[in-house]
Amino acid sequence: MTITIPSTTTFAVHDPATTEVIAQVADGTAADARAAVDAAAAAFPAWAATPSRVRAEVLRRAFALIVADTEHLAALIHSENGKSLDDARAEVGYAAEFFRWFSEEAVRTEGSYGESPAGGTRTIVMHKPVGVAALVTPWNFPAAMATRKIAPALAAGCTVVLKPAAETPLTALAIAELLTAAGVPEGVVGVVPTTAPAEVVSTWLTDDRVRKVSFTGSTDVGKVLLKLAADRVLNSSMELGGNAPFVVTADADIEAAVAGAMIAKFRNAGQACTAANRFFVHEDVLDKFVASLGEAIEGLQVAPLISAKAVDGVTALVDEAVDAGARLTHRGSTDTGGWFYPATLLVDVHPGMRIAREEIFGPVVSVITWRDEQAMLAQANDSESGLAAYVYAGRLQDALRIAEGLEAGMVGVNRGVVSDPSTPFGGVKQSGIGREGAREGIREYQETQYFSVDWT
Ligand code: NAD
Repeated sequence: MTITIPSTTTFAVHDPATTEVIAQVADGTAADARAAVDAAAAAFPAWAATPSRVRAEVLRRAFALIVADTEHLAALIHSENGKSLDDARAEVGYAAEFFRWFSEEAVRTEGSYGESPAGGTRTIVMHKPVGVAALVTPWNFPAAMATRKIAPALAAGCTVVLKPAAETPLTALAIAELLTAAGVPEGVVGVVPTTAPAEVVSTWLTDDRVRKVSFTGSTDVGKVLLKLAADRVLNSSMELGGNAPFVVTADADIEAAVAGAMIAKFRNAGQACTAANRFFVHEDVLDKFVASLGEAIEGLQVAPLISAKAVDGVTALVDEAVDAGARLTHRGSTDTGGWFYPATLLVDVHPGMRIAREEIFGPVVSVITWRDEQAMLAQANDSESGLAAYVYAGRLQDALRIAEGLEAGMVGVNRGVVSDPSTPFGGVKQSGIGREGAREGIREYQETQYFSVDWT
């Protein structure tokens, strides 16, 4: 028998709106990480063998318990992440829906039975859980990024170990408790918060019992994990950074485009991988769009950013753009005392500027003017990122033609939101590998096996 002594040191969690310490959390070590895999590996055979209907009902109870606990979870998200209570409540609803969706998918893992074209053989195809999955999530959606992985993994019959971001461990810990209350057996879900992410995650990725890694976060860290995963040819899913273009055509409904821009840009103070980053606005509607969006921005007070470092990063991007010729036309107000940056509107941005090439991850609209559709598409696609994109156009055909021309995994067509548990969320190019949600989501946690059966 091995005895693991849980970590006795702790780390502080801060409220970004006040910078005050709101909790101390046990700081996970490599030993804690190994203990979590011990538990997950021990729990795997029984959970994988549990009838899918039973697993589905556990997930459905998890959905109900999360919804019932909305106010508590929203308050936790609000205090450790800083987003507004309304945004936090919306996140809890979105996070819960992954359990409802995957409770429905858990029982639909049908394979196939077919005749080989050459004759003499029948082929039976089935899907099996991949095994223990290591999950790593960011701070910007502390509930939803965790449930978008845990729900399909459990639906498939996998057990999981999760490392939430050190900025926001409280929500993940609260969800783990609700999962226990929903009937998730001991060891099936383990959560290891830590300030040593490389140590904990590399412990998992080099452990022969771990058969899957699913990561959401920055492209740079995703590359580090992919290199580590390569040594074990580990099944890998990657949800990485974005740099979403937001296209407005000459005949777009400007009121609708501005309403969509407010959501696509300012949800979570711009700290979303799907956040609109580069606004390509047709020159004929530029003044109208800027005036109308500017008015909305001046009345806006956004939530704080996650850290002082994040504020410094956004400040540098904006200052550099202004020095290079961009014009700052409108600004919102901010609270004081926390890590705030005001909603900001920049026009005359050029595609070569750093603010257009890098993910801003803050409440800044950068507007690039366009006239020729092909040239605009070439600029929009001149990026290694390809996660979300948005198009506002008067004619649906134009919107769809432009949407098809955009190199992105997801395109909002005349709407400023793309996330939905029933859709295959994910990116192309360096924005990621694999999809979360939809039918595809569960396949990320399954291996395909077939039997080739003699039929002579
Ligand atoms: P991050 O990459 O810094 O951190 C993400 C996670 O990785 C955290 O849990 C962190 O502790 C961990 N981590 C950091 N260094 C590590 C290492 N060396 N080894 C192992 N783990 C490590 O990203 P972030 O700042 O938390 O989140 C913002 C990024 O996430 C943005 O780029 C955003 O676009 C992206 N994101 C993508 C999606 C998506 O679905 N594609 C969703 C949300 C966020």
